[in-house]
Amino acid sequence: MNIDRRKLCKLGAVAGGTAVCSVATPVLARDEREPDPNWYGMLNDSTRCIGCKACQVACKAENKLPAEATLGDAKVFGTPIYDSPRELSESTYTLIKMHLDVESKETTFVKQQCMHCVDPACQSACIVGALKKQSNGAVEYDADLCMGCRYCMVACPFSVPQFEWHKAIPSIKKCTLCSESRLKKGEPTACATACPAGAITFGKREALLKVARKRIEDNPEIYLNHIYGEKEVGGTNVLYLTKPKVQFAGLGLPDVKFKAVSGLTESIQHRIFQYFIPPIAVYSLLGGIMSYNQRRKKNAGQTGGDDEY
Ligand code: SF4
Ligand code: SF4
Ligand code: SF4
Repeated sequence: MNIDRRKLCKLGAVAGGTAVCSVATPVLARDEREPDPNWYGMLNDSTRCIGCKACQVACKAENKLPAEATLGDAKVFGTPIYDSPRELSESTYTLIKMHLDVESKETTFVKQQCMHCVDPACQSACIVGALKKQSNGAVEYDADLCMGCRYCMVACPFSVPQFEWHKAIPSIKKCTLCSESRLKKGEPTACATACPAGAITFGKREALLKVARKRIEDNPEIYLNHIYGEKEVGGTNVLYLTKPKVQFAGLGLPDVKFKAVSGLTESIQHRIFQYFIPPIAVYSLLGGIMSYNQRRKKNAGQTGGDDEY
């Protein structure tokens, strides 16, 4: 039988729908988690970032990650051409992107990375507990527990977790908040330490929120009156500030709901085990969430009116 991708997706949707409909009682989301004031995080201030990418380089060095040859097989005098990748990858845990305001020609740089969410959707989607929020605030990954299902990739509202597709035994890769290598020794993150412009402030979440509020209060002409991550998806440990004219959606930070989706994802996972719903149904459900998030991101970008690089 010849089944193309479209038919397979339809089959998946039907299987997902059937599986969900067969569950007699509705799936209710559990209560949201509250942030711990002692959790560590970072304040990424895009009004200060000069786009030097020192943070990107420091992250590569800290995590012993290789450079990426972005032009495929292209070579100059036999040597591959290396460049900054366009997206996060299994070898790039953080990335600086540039936003250009078409009218004023003003540029703004933004740092992409794992948000170390207060109530992480990746953790709640992982049925074997390979992703876990630590007492220091970092969301850590345990490769020994991971079974490679990639539910975490589908569940993350920020499209952060990356998969080592080319490896025989692949792992999920993402920013670690330098938890093992630095936080546990009482040291700040490598990227925050490397930033020459003071654009990355490392500290406890509560203190970072105070710093962010003070910056907005002292310089309302420089800052948009909004701290991204204070409430988004139930709160994140990595927070963002931007310029008044530059909306977060234009910087690639999606206009997500203030409520965490994790409670719902977790309840769905528990119900899956209760009723033995097959994996294709889970992919259909989580795929629906991902496609909804992607559509929101795209729409936000279209209505923002600014170009994103
Ligand atoms: S940003 Fe994504 S990968 Fe990082 S903690 Fe949140 S849900 Fe997990
Ligand atoms: S916190 Fe550590 S792992 Fe995360 S982006 Fe910064 S240097 Fe990389
Ligand atoms: S090191 Fe600081 S100024 Fe340079 S790109 Fe990173 S955040 Fe921006």
